[in-house]
Amino acid sequence: ATPTAIMVGTGNGARAGILVRNAAALERAEKIRTLLVDKTGTLTEGKPAVIDIVPVGVATESELLRLAATLEKGSQHPLAHAILTKAGEHGLELPPLGNFQSISGKGVSGVIAEKICHLGSPALMLELGMTPDDALLQHMQAQGKTVVCVAQGSNLLGYLAIADRLRASSPRAVARLQAMGIEVVMLTGDNRATAQAIADQAGIRNYCAEVLPRDKAEEVEKLKARGTLVGMVGDGINDAPALAAADISFAIGAGSDVAIEAADITLMRNDLNSVADAISLSRATLGKIR
Ligand code: ADP
Ligand code: MG
Repeated sequence: ATPTAIMVGTGNGARAGILVRNAAALERAEKIRTLLVDKTGTLTEGKPAVIDIVPVGVATESELLRLAATLEKGSQHPLAHAILTKAGEHGLELPPLGNFQSISGKGVSGVIAEKICHLGSPALMLELGMTPDDALLQHMQAQGKTVVCVAQGSNLLGYLAIADRLRASSPRAVARLQAMGIEVVMLTGDNRATAQAIADQAGIRNYCAEVLPRDKAEEVEKLKARGTLVGMVGDGINDAPALAAADISFAIGAGSDVAIEAADITLMRNDLNSVADAISLSRATLGKIR
């Protein structure tokens, strides 16, 4: 495209809340054939809330929530925020937490009242030698909820089911992108059943689930190996390396500063429709000078 066409395109984008970092990105955007979309914070609102508290054995709901919130005190994860908010609503006082550790893409651990405790995915519990109730998990996950388990030592004390609403704009944006000939693929660290439920709600056929943060970039490389141009949309929480690996990266505006710095195109509106708008803008900008 001519410099003038690019300048006009960039200006039109900025007015629509689409901030293009460099001209080359705007030129390449029209060639995107596969778009990877991160689930949490991108397709969904990224504001998960605790819906169910399910103690097993002797623990009460309050005890379970208190332990969970104490473990999450040191975490920045959106699920941690949901659990701490719920504990706050219940007016729970949290005991001290020792030796906090974050287990990337799996959960957290720490010492409470001299006992080592864990909180995290069912997969983490299996790794630790505990067996979560499969039927219960499947029931909650089929509703699109993310289930985390709480354990004290080697005792599984219960489950918290956390739900993050799909952004109302996501299904229409996915349909628009698909109508533009773009294959939309969801990427998430969450389990398959929850991923399937969210993908269904969004109208997405293909997804990669249970992908650890450090493996997300590898999924991008796999799709690039097919030879088509791959775009990636994320909020920068756990997906900054994947954004960097994509041919063209889009950051959802409310995400972390990391994403905004690394992304080719930043979307000020937290709406996947802006990606479709950006690709249309690219097509229009280049179309004008052909
Ligand atoms: P996503 O790809 O959807 O952003 P993550 O990779 O951040 O998800 O996390 C994957 C899974 O790891 C979560 O669904 C959860 O089960 C578990 N997990 C990771 N960190 C935490 C935490 N701080 N609290 C609870 N669960 C966590
Ligand atoms: Mg994420």
